[in-house]
This record gives sequence, structure tokens and C-alpha cells, in this order.
Amino acid sequence: MKQFLVTGGAGFIGSAVVRHLIQHTGHRVVVVDKLTYAGNLSSLAPVADSDRFAFEQVDICDRAALDRLLTRYQPDCIMHLAAESHVDRSIDSSWPFIETNIVGTWQLLEAARHYWRGLSAEKQAAFVFHHISTDEVFGDLHGSDDFFTETTPYAPSSPYSASKASSDHLVRAWMRTYGLPVIVTNCSNNYGPYHFPEKLIPLMIINALAGKPLPVYGDGGQIRDWLYVEDHARALVTVVSTGQAGETYNIGGHNEQRNIDVVNMLCDLLEELTPTKPAGIAHFRDLITFVTDRPGHDQRYAIDAGKIERELGWRPQETFESGLRKTVQWYLSHEKWWRSILDGSYQGERLGLSSPH
Ligand code: NAD
Repeated sequence: MKQFLVTGGAGFIGSAVVRHLIQHTGHRVVVVDKLTYAGNLSSLAPVADSDRFAFEQVDICDRAALDRLLTRYQPDCIMHLAAESHVDRSIDSSWPFIETNIVGTWQLLEAARHYWRGLSAEKQAAFVFHHISTDEVFGDLHGSDDFFTETTPYAPSSPYSASKASSDHLVRAWMRTYGLPVIVTNCSNNYGPYHFPEKLIPLMIINALAGKPLPVYGDGGQIRDWLYVEDHARALVTVVSTGQAGETYNIGGHNEQRNIDVVNMLCDLLEELTPTKPAGIAHFRDLITFVTDRPGHDQRYAIDAGKIERELGWRPQETFESGLRKTVQWYLSHEKWWRSILDGSYQGERLGLSSPH
């Protein structure tokens, strides 16, 4: 039984990792999360009663608090998912992205380095700092039919992806310079249960159910490579358990889709799965509205996940069709979860969810 420390464990992907670790392994988990607008303790409710689960509300920029937690919990590995993660928010206000994604990662690396130096040689050799990152660091594939590999040069486009690229460089430098054993994973777009309703897929489902417009950027022709979040969580636990320190693994679902096709598929699933439509709506597709494109919007991302498949034996279990169906069914049966976000009661404040995705 190992002790995991998971930063950002109250977020979308972090909570899937924590649910996976508690429900499918015997490991202990401590979640370190500041609970920003994106953190939601109810996403951890399915595992909160486990005696192998602990939660600490801590900002990763708070070095003294990080030192205390590392001393107290003595983790065997750190999975670092805490981040500001929404591209549109990074365009409106970039400082929180610089602060958490760059400065916060640096604080965590420094705390981890000092903790790791004090471990026995045996524990030092087994320790892993796993940094979870995005394929957006590679930039835009435009109209080409290439794929991102682990050696694709970085060319981030947005404040978000630039801040994640910076953190990836810091993490690798801490291994090269100080010997801290690190692994970096870069993953494509995730979707699935417990996804905050400012992101494309949950926003479209929730707006459609309310009979509101479905805002699609530009002509909807941007291509993203989608991965079901539980497949990503399984990949991350595989990497941290069996991956090689110093390595990078790309993670993706082989599911390239144009945004407009995703929205059309969601509309068709809702036609099939909802017994009634909002008043005055003949077809969910009628709600689709094209809006001014996001500045600097990348046209295409696509991941070559061959390395993790060959070396660690991981493969996604969901197709896009099966994962999207599960996701729509989850939002239909977990209305209380997303309504508490819309009315702000999950954090005691009302949120202004204005951006399309
Ligand atoms: P999210 O926004 O849903 O969750 C982020 C979590 O981090 C929240 O619980 C938030 O409270 C916490 N957090 C933010 N700032 C913090 C701070 N200063 N200290 C402590 N906790 C803090 O994000 P997500 O979609 O779950 O993404 C998790 C990680 O995976 C991020 O690093 C992101 O860059 C990466 N990623 C996301 C995707 C995706 O499609 N969502 C794809 C690839 C990689």
C-alpha cells in the first residue's frame, strides 16, 4: 500500500484519479486542493468515507503548508494536477495561470525536492513526481495530418498553454539539475462525469436541457482529440505505477472530432435519451448558434499515444460514441451536481458562466 499525494484532486480529472485509486487499488490518498471555483468536494463524495482518503485545503503556492503536508503524510509519489485550466479565462485574466501553473509548480517542486532529499536511498529510488500536462503545449497542427509525439517541439498559443509549457520545463529541469525523479504526461481533451459546466460538452448538454443557445466558436471546424476521463485516470495511475522516471508519455483517445460534430452528436443523443424537450424546441440542433471565434484559437490537436500503449500496455476502453453516451446519461441522472454549480450553492456563491467553452 502506497501513500499518494494528489494536487488538484477536487477538480475534474483529479477527482477521477482519486476515485480510481480508492475504488480500484488499496493505496492511501491525500488530496491537496485550494478549492478554487473549479474545485468541488461533492466530486469526491463517493470516496470521502474511506479511511484511506484524506483532504487538505491548501494552496500549492504556500510553501510552508506544503512542507508540513509532506512531513505529515510521507508520500511515496506526488501526482500534480492542480492548475488553472480554462483557456478562455486565461485570455481574460492571465495572472492566476502564471501564479498557480508556474509559481505554484515551482513551489511544489522545491518542497518535493527537499522532502525527497531527506528520504532513505530505497525510498528515494521509488519516489515519483508525476506532472500532469496537456497536448496544448505543442501548439497547432493546422491542416496537417501529423500527430503530436513525445518529441514534438513546444509552441503554445494561449496564456493557459504557455503556463503549462513553462511548468513542464521546470519539472524536467528539476530532474536534470537536482535528480528529483519526475514523469510528465501530456494528454488530449478530456470529457466525462463531473466536468465543470463551462467546458464544451457539459455546457452544451446543460444549455440544451434549458432550451438555451448552444454557442459554437467560429464555424465549429476546430478538431480536438477526445479521451474519456476515466480512461485518462487509469492511464495516469498506470504511468505513476509502472512508468520510467525521466520519461514523457503522451495520452490520447484516437478520437479526433470537429467541435460542430461533437455538438451535433450531443444533440442527437439528447433527442434519444430525454423524454421531453424544453417548450418551443422542435429539435436540439436548432439551438446551435455560431459565435465569434476565440483569439489565437488552435485549429487541430491530435495525439500519438503509441508509446504508452507499447511500453505500458494502456489503451482507452471507451470509444467516443460509448463515452459520450455515458456522459450524457450521467448529466441526466446527476442534475443535483450541476445545478449546485449553476446556482453557486456548491461554494456559496453564484458564478457567471458566460463563455461558450
Ligand atoms: P480543473 O480546473 O477541473 O481542476 C483543477 C483543480 O486544481 C481544482 O480542484 C482547483 O481547486 C485546484 N487548484 C487550482 N489552483 C490551485 C492552487 N493554487 N492550489 C491548489 N489547488 C488548486 O482541471 P482539470 O480539467 O481536472 O485538469 C487537471 C490537470 O490536467 C491540469 O493540470 C490540466 O492542465 C491538465 N489537463 C487537463 C485536460 C482537460 O481536458 N481537462 C487535458 C489535459 C491535461
